Amino acid sequence: MISTVRFSGKQPGIYLHYPYCYQKCQYCDFYSIGVGSKSIPGEEELFRNYEEEFLFRLERDPILRDFEFTSFFVGGGTPSKMNPIHLEKFLSTLRKHIRFSENAEFSFEANPEDIHPNLLETFWNLGFGRLNLGVQSFQEKNLVELGRFYRKEIYENVLNLLEKSPIPSLGIDLIYGIPGQTVDDFLMDLKFGISTRIHHLSAYSLTLEKGTEYSRLVRTQEKKPPQEEIQTEIMRILPEVMNEFGFFQYEVSNYSKPGFESHHNLKYWKMEYYMGLGPGAHGFLPSGRYGNPRNLQAYGKGSFPIGKVDRDGWRDELILGLLRIFSPIDLSSFEVPLNREFPYEIVKKWKDKKLCDFSEINKIFQWKKEAIFYLDEYILEMSEGIDS
Ligand code: SF4
Repeated sequence: MISTVRFSGKQPGIYLHYPYCYQKCQYCDFYSIGVGSKSIPGEEELFRNYEEEFLFRLERDPILRDFEFTSFFVGGGTPSKMNPIHLEKFLSTLRKHIRFSENAEFSFEANPEDIHPNLLETFWNLGFGRLNLGVQSFQEKNLVELGRFYRKEIYENVLNLLEKSPIPSLGIDLIYGIPGQTVDDFLMDLKFGISTRIHHLSAYSLTLEKGTEYSRLVRTQEKKPPQEEIQTEIMRILPEVMNEFGFFQYEVSNYSKPGFESHHNLKYWKMEYYMGLGPGAHGFLPSGRYGNPRNLQAYGKGSFPIGKVDRDGWRDELILGLLRIFSPIDLSSFEVPLNREFPYEIVKKWKDKKLCDFSEINKIFQWKKEAIFYLDEYILEMSEGIDS
């Protein structure tokens, strides 16, 4: 079933940032460090730092002890590279201090080169029911263009291994708009991926992020920029193609089978609290919003940045996140954090233009898929409506 998005305010999540990867991909803007296949230097210490930060943040926001945490997301970097013994110990510390809800969503990110039956079994035994695999493409030419790791036998077998895994909820990430990639190349990757036991797809358009190796190579004309025309075409056809496979679009870049949405990621877009831990992680807690240093040494010093409250910026951010969601949204539930009524006259105007569905009785709103091309314009209109 497609669930309606509502604001809770009392169901936080935890995000843990693990920074290590096999190699640093050229387009990547996350805080990540390529270390090849070696074992990770100082991993035990990193987990000690996570624990220190967790206790520090809990002390600053003691109200979190009264809430039920409904998600734990281990992202990166490439968390499948970690030694799960450290994660197990860290989880038991978390459980000593906070409560997770009975059906809390535990997710981790993995890369194809790490997928092995033992790894899948271990994460499953630790309570992880959701795995997100960073595939980006199954085709060598695209992965080489992205400066990513590729080995034929690994990419050919990885979905097979996932299908046999005990983990019930599986997702893949794909990228489109890679120089040299055609619409058909992308659809081939897509169909190869989702015709297996996959429940979730994140499809991202390739972007040029400041400070990345890819943006430097484009500037010096050693590489071509992302193919924008192909990106527009894929954005146009994707919702329909995914519907044929039983997936629905619940956010600009995210599709799932009903019931398999990422509840953790939804927290970011609807501005629920989450505690981000680790170098480069961001968090949003009752004491405010914060961003940790993107540097292991600085993070390891143990003086963690304190959250800041920015009421106006926060309001814009909520609108920006909320209106990226394509699932039905109970707008009235967001009047609590906004501290005012939604400007329903704007929503009604959109409804008249057939851009969305909206019920004036229960205030349930949902974008129609055509709205995606003008989303930025509508978000701006709503932000101005909220501010006025
Ligand atoms: S594997 Fe992922 S996190 Fe690591 S460098 Fe590549 S894109 Fe970034």
